[in-house]
Amino acid sequence: MRIFHVTSEYAPFAKVGGLADAVRGLSRELSKCTEQTTVCLPYYQSLPPEVKKQLNLSSQVTFPWNTSEQMVDIYTYQDNDLTLLLFKPLDTDYFDRNLIYGHPDDTERFLYFCLAVNAYLSTQNYDILHLHDWTCGLLAYLQNNRKESSKIVFTIHNAEHQGAFSLNSIKSIELNQLLSTQTLGDQNTINLMRLAINHSDFITTVSPSYRNDLLTEFFSFELFDVLQPKADVFKGILNGIDYDDWNPTNDSFIPYHYNTSYFQNSAIINETSHKLANKASLFQSLQMPQARRPLVIAITRLTPQKGLDLLQHALYRTLENGGCFILLGSSHDPETHQQFTKLSLKFENHPRVRIFIDFDESLAHKLYAAADISVIPSIFEPCGLTQLISLRYGTLPVVRKTGGLQDSIHDIDYGQCDESLRNGFVFNNPDFSGVDSALDRAMKLWFDDSEKWNAIVGRSMEIDLSWNKPAQIYLETYNDLLSGSTYTSQKTRC
Ligand code: ADP
Repeated sequence: MRIFHVTSEYAPFAKVGGLADAVRGLSRELSKCTEQTTVCLPYYQSLPPEVKKQLNLSSQVTFPWNTSEQMVDIYTYQDNDLTLLLFKPLDTDYFDRNLIYGHPDDTERFLYFCLAVNAYLSTQNYDILHLHDWTCGLLAYLQNNRKESSKIVFTIHNAEHQGAFSLNSIKSIELNQLLSTQTLGDQNTINLMRLAINHSDFITTVSPSYRNDLLTEFFSFELFDVLQPKADVFKGILNGIDYDDWNPTNDSFIPYHYNTSYFQNSAIINETSHKLANKASLFQSLQMPQARRPLVIAITRLTPQKGLDLLQHALYRTLENGGCFILLGSSHDPETHQQFTKLSLKFENHPRVRIFIDFDESLAHKLYAAADISVIPSIFEPCGLTQLISLRYGTLPVVRKTGGLQDSIHDIDYGQCDESLRNGFVFNNPDFSGVDSALDRAMKLWFDDSEKWNAIVGRSMEIDLSWNKPAQIYLETYNDLLSGSTYTSQKTRC
């Protein structure tokens, strides 16, 4: 099977959030068991120099854009069995920017990327074209005249961002002609996510609960009318995490490596746990006093989706309960940035609080390894990876019951499943008392019953959260599509 993934992010070198981790984890896993797996990504100026050094110029494509011929170089990067293709435009500076998103011409940038990938795909044979989120949505439409036997899968990683824009705002005459029949209402609006849903053979999203949400009128971000008719070709598959990238037994970012055996013998835990040593090392490096207190962390993009007031409340509640709190958050929104900078100044000299307004991969690993509890009070959460990474590092999650958080975290006291599968603390309502109801229980258990705490940590670290199972489900989905045993929703192609 020959598979092409197209994405705007790929961890670790082009990462804003979970999309980057998910595409990397899934494509790497698929590359182990398929004939050919290739990932197409823009060549960002911000790629690390060590990655740029390993790139080989392999081909070039041209396509028309506003009546002039555009040239795009394609560089290859080999990651074991996986091939990455990086598309570098020679005639524009669309990707010569420090940030992946947040530019006024974002829509135009990713439309341009899709046209370049489309020009390349027209020279290739593939079985599956797998597109991720709105930035790649145009390709589902552009590839309409592909071979009948090739199938398109579109994954919704976050339906909040749909790539809606006015066709009048796009410079390219060719795109204006191409998309003129696809506008919505009389506003000349194109919505790339809707376009991709309409023109794909199969749609997935990143957890079963989020799929269910997207099929309701209220929680679908107004995609209900296009998703509902395709419900039988729409699946929710919970993401995994890449076990090479997230592995406390050999993580190069953390000073002390550890595994579950430290938590299986409570007699040795206080003396020798390397997780505790990571905590001590972190406290020392951040000049926080060494004391027996639970460390609560939050590692997140600072956007309203993540429950920003609930995060701040969790900080205050942690302090009231006698714990330490470290927040690592990034934001491209100036107002949010200012709000959290203010918060960090307020706690500048507090011995038990540290706030970093930054994107810092290395610090993130150190925090997962050092912490006892991670708090994830999302208003909505398509999948969420921080709770999965937390479990892998023996850090118990406190989460709001929504989307992928609901599918992966089962409450230690009230979970409906077998006790052996319970792995965190869950609350229902996105309000302060909701946070308290779960965070208080977590912190009380940490203080009162370290034996029980360690037993839960030990078994949570052993849950299989790898891409192994989810990749198999994707592979089965691809196979069903190719063999025709899946009803293909797009019966006619325009
Ligand atoms: P989302 O995709 O909505 O941002 P996820 O939970 O799916 O949220 O994925 C977040 C990913 O980004 C995780 O790998 C997390 O560790 C990482 N991350 C989020 N914020 C930061 C940050 N400020 N610094 C470093 N890594 C971060």
